[in-house]
Amino acid sequence: MRRGSGFWFWLATGLWTASLTGCGADQGPGAAAGARSATNGAQSLANVPPGNKARTSSPRVELVWPTPNPAFDEGKDFPAFIQPTASGDPRSGLFGSVRSGGRQFHEGLDLLATKHDKQGEATDAVGAALAGVVRYVSNSPGNSNYGRYVVLEHPQERPAVYTLYAHLREITPGMQAGRQVAPGERLGTMGRSSSGAPIPKDRAHLHFEIGLRVTDRFAAWYASRGFGSPNPHGIWNGMNLAGLDPLAVFIRHQAGGLNSFEEIFSTLPAALVLQTSHAAEPDFIRRYPDLLETTGVADAGLAGGWEITINATGLPFRWRRLSTAETAGWKRGEVRIQKVDASLLAANRGRKLATQRGGRWVPDEDLNSLIEQLFPR
Ligand SMILES: [Zn+2]
Repeated sequence: MRRGSGFWFWLATGLWTASLTGCGADQGPGAAAGARSATNGAQSLANVPPGNKARTSSPRVELVWPTPNPAFDEGKDFPAFIQPTASGDPRSGLFGSVRSGGRQFHEGLDLLATKHDKQGEATDAVGAALAGVVRYVSNSPGNSNYGRYVVLEHPQERPAVYTLYAHLREITPGMQAGRQVAPGERLGTMGRSSSGAPIPKDRAHLHFEIGLRVTDRFAAWYASRGFGSPNPHGIWNGMNLAGLDPLAVFIRHQAGGLNSFEEIFSTLPAALVLQTSHAAEPDFIRRYPDLLETTGVADAGLAGGWEITINATGLPFRWRRLSTAETAGWKRGEVRIQKVDASLLAANRGRKLATQRGGRWVPDEDLNSLIEQLFPR
């Protein structure tokens, strides 16, 4: 959808178009992020594999917009709730390869402030998007470019996603690891805290993420890379959190309800399929067993490695065990890229997943990091 004159027509009439599955992967000009349509929602639900349809009697995901801004719930398009970077382009506050002409990846939504005090500081309450458990609170703004941030995990969801709330001005007293929170419960106040470049008052925002945690052994991976700075956040370092487009989740929820996050993950577009002879079972797949395809074959015969399907922003969202016959003769820890959707990769060049060398696709730096994290040596 191009935001030409038609955009303002849609804005005025409350009509929306776009595809849901395109939200995470297609962030080209006028990408789908702001668009919504009950029709498309129904089409996307029709893509859900039969195994998931059987679960329609389960309680729906209870999802709450994390700020008091009513714009999304009122059906307004994304410029009404997204805080742009200094560029002024509202797309720069969306999820995806939306910055620096598409070369820079932004792993969340930047939600703008609607309330300010006399000094011009944001005062919007930030609330939990889902019921959950506080896993991590970082109250030292200088320790992360997230500034003050809170991470919740949502064990009742399948998969058990996390949500993250960053740049907070203050964190609600008593928020500490292990505390249970209700949907909408106040976690803190929107702000502009960050260890990085200062965020000016008029661009205070909530950086909001939804995603999965890559590895329990993140600290060891981080130390092995010699980044030259400490990691005070353990496994809740942002580098260990793989996000998906939160707006796509909210749009889907609004379009027709959301029975489980599996519906989101099972319909992500595949940008790349790799196979590896790494035989160990990553803690990732023990944490998120819903992402593992069950084949009906006894696990004992499936110790040859893994086939992993990855979306264009680097989320390993579908897994299959390989038999020893499938990787017979492979080197230990070998990785072979089997399939690539070159247009999806090109539309998300803020993520460096794969590159062509000598006529073959080989892992690029972000995919190499992911593989190292999933299969530590
Ligand atoms: Zn952000």
